[in-house]
Amino acid sequence: MGCGSGGSYLYRLLRRRNPDSDITLFDPPTANACGIKCCAWGVSRPLFSKLCAEAGVNSEQFVISRYDHVVINGQRLKADLAIINKPALVKNFLGDAQPLDPGTADVSVFDRIIDATGSERAFMPPTDAQPVVSAVQVRLKARAPDAPTAVFNPGGGYSWLFPIGADEVHLGSLSPGGFDKAREELKKMMSGSKSKVVCSCRGKIRCHGPILPLNAGSVWGIGESIGLVDPVTGAGIIPAMTSAKMLVDHWDSPGEYQADVLQRFSYMIKEANILNRLMAGNPLSSGDLFFPKQALETIGISPSLAEFVGLVVKGARDYLAHRRA
Ligand SMILES: Cc1cc2nc3c(=O)[nH]c(=O)nc-3n(C[C@H](O)[C@H](O)[C@H](O)COP(=O)(O)OP(=O)(O)OC[C@H]3O[C@@H](n4cnc5c(N)ncnc54)[C@H](O)[C@@H]3O)c2cc1C
Repeated sequence: MGCGSGGSYLYRLLRRRNPDSDITLFDPPTANACGIKCCAWGVSRPLFSKLCAEAGVNSEQFVISRYDHVVINGQRLKADLAIINKPALVKNFLGDAQPLDPGTADVSVFDRIIDATGSERAFMPPTDAQPVVSAVQVRLKARAPDAPTAVFNPGGGYSWLFPIGADEVHLGSLSPGGFDKAREELKKMMSGSKSKVVCSCRGKIRCHGPILPLNAGSVWGIGESIGLVDPVTGAGIIPAMTSAKMLVDHWDSPGEYQADVLQRFSYMIKEANILNRLMAGNPLSSGDLFFPKQALETIGISPSLAEFVGLVVKGARDYLAHRRA
């Protein structure tokens, strides 16, 4: 259920392992012009390449551009980041398979249901795990910047400008304060621009880290449905694909699947707790300044410790000052 980053990749892995397996795919039609759910298409190039290789796919065919640095709040940080053609990737993973509209699904007939429905979490039990942030995005005809660029929003979250080839960009903003706040920040970024809008989309992002348990009866969750999006960067493509691979590796063992997911992604829960405390108006303590190396790895950014701490402290101070104002 759900053929985004994680579901389509899982399908490809399962087909590769057992071409005769009986799999039915469900995904509702989307109104987004690009054909997939909202996303800005930025990934860690090395992790993406490794995951594609596990499915027998050459990742390079999906790489639109790669960058050895990004610019965050005006600061240049070392990176190995790729902008991928995500709609083409999902299409490739699915091959000839045609997902059905879930409106017609009688799920009780299946031995196993995979919840890969992202922030919808349509089949796993409801959860109130936070944060769930709101993101809005437009695709513009515009000259691309030299590198992916992001700025912290004063009211929390951040805005980005990601090149998609030479003459198009994804311009977006995410906010813990809802779609209106995210839209306000996006408008600020766009003010004065005469660029043509090609496409626009919006989506919630559930970024809490692993939400346990990862299965409930015959339903097993992967990706964003079980919280696997980095709370600081909002990156969920690599975590969704990674959890799909873990599920295939531990297909009949919920305990091993959970242990593997926790070992790889429990740092996200720590990050989420810090963000939740910050959003409640609490200042950061020195204990909060751990270095979430894996977090930045998933989006391909590798700043030095000093650069990272500098960014976090500035972001937290600006946010708290804005909150008090
Ligand atoms: C604006 C925006 C920009 C982002 N940019 C990036 C980025 O640059 N890099 C990055 O790593 N992450 C990014 N993310 C996050 C990333 O897109 C997701 O976290 C990631 O794709 C999660 O993968 P997934 O497979 O769990 O879910 P998704 O890729 O979201 O796929 C979920 C699928 O489930 C389907 N679905 C929904 N409801 C049902 C249902 N009831 N039955 C069946 N199917 C259903 C949806 O149509 C969708 O195809 C962004 C998110 C947003 C909103």
